[in-house]
Amino acid sequence: MKGNFPTDKFQKVETPFYYYDTELLHRTLKAINDEVAKHNNFYVHYAIKANANPKVLNIISQAGLGADCVSGGEIHRCLETGFSPRKIVYAGVGKADWEINLGLDKGIFCFNVESVAELEVINELAEKKGKVADICLRINPDVGAHTNAKITTGLAENKFGIAMRDMEPAIAEAAKMKNVRFAGLHFHIGSQILDMGDFSALCNRINNIQDELEIHNIKVENINVGGGLGIDYQHPNRIPVPDFKAYFDTYARHLKLRPGQKLHFELGRAVVGQMGSLITRCLYVKQGTAKQFVIVDAGMTDLIRPALYQAYHKIENITSEEPLTTYDVVGPICESSDVFAKAIDLNKTSRGDLLAIRSAGAYGEIMASQYNCRKLPQGYITEDLSEI
Ligand SMILES: *Cc1c(COP(=O)(O)O)cnc(C)c1O
Repeated sequence: MKGNFPTDKFQKVETPFYYYDTELLHRTLKAINDEVAKHNNFYVHYAIKANANPKVLNIISQAGLGADCVSGGEIHRCLETGFSPRKIVYAGVGKADWEINLGLDKGIFCFNVESVAELEVINELAEKKGKVADICLRINPDVGAHTNAKITTGLAENKFGIAMRDMEPAIAEAAKMKNVRFAGLHFHIGSQILDMGDFSALCNRINNIQDELEIHNIKVENINVGGGLGIDYQHPNRIPVPDFKAYFDTYARHLKLRPGQKLHFELGRAVVGQMGSLITRCLYVKQGTAKQFVIVDAGMTDLIRPALYQAYHKIENITSEEPLTTYDVVGPICESSDVFAKAIDLNKTSRGDLLAIRSAGAYGEIMASQYNCRKLPQGYITEDLSEI
């Protein structure tokens, strides 16, 4: 089964480009909102680092989601695309002064603080402005996720967050500071997680932490469990919308929230991954000594995930119905790692055919670079193409 694409429209657009299927994005957002509506204290902040295309962000902000930012640039982008500052959370191990000042000036909901040193700087900068910053402490829960080693974040060895044994001293430090207010705890264990057991392990860890804090009479208003829900890269057509019910139910079942506590989520990939495809044109079909190569006009500069994480993306020839043939699909960049797939079956491919590299809506366009002096790929939503 192949995806359904407006290939006639695609013929009029310069390749390579990202295509964002807005019908699927709306369907995905509705699936999230339907699940969230079953719980009166769940809040979703879209992790905008996954895809910051302004048109995509407009749709997500209109659906009522908040935003999770990891830089000042992302805060600017969110505010330009309709997100309320009161729904912005801001994490990052290395927040610069101007970024903290921006968050303070715009009145964001919360800083997710990753060290006591950062806490001191936020307190100082907030004092200069006569403000009090709400902060959550990002705790490294030492919970592993069964995913690519480059995208785990919640192990003791990772650079993120405050170690558990430093948590209570950090809360005590925050309590002494006049211009920060302790608003809760933040966690994020990694990305592309499909085993709900990883999330329930996080829940158990948070339950233990809460029991401990309760003994010391420390009140926690907000729990933020980060993001990480994965998508089905193998089956973008069969499973276009992630199983949000299983995801939210896992937290509802395993996390023991205290009365009045709010639970926050930061989903990135699961919101935008499946709605995006990188559309590229076959430049040449080359017979090597042992294999046949399809050389396309997109490269690792447009989509770096295969080169960086050995990530799998399903590829379809969307303009050929000829019998299947085995190819390596490679880009034009002067790097041996510029390979999208090895030994995959495509409908027989010829120069000029269009290929869709699927499930590329997350960590695709936003990670593009200009290496080899290449142009950055454009991103088009469905509505952009209906006008041409
Ligand atoms: C990247 C990131 C997310 C989103 O991760 P996904 O796997 O895309 O859901 C959420 N929170 C933080 C702090 C992050 O760094």
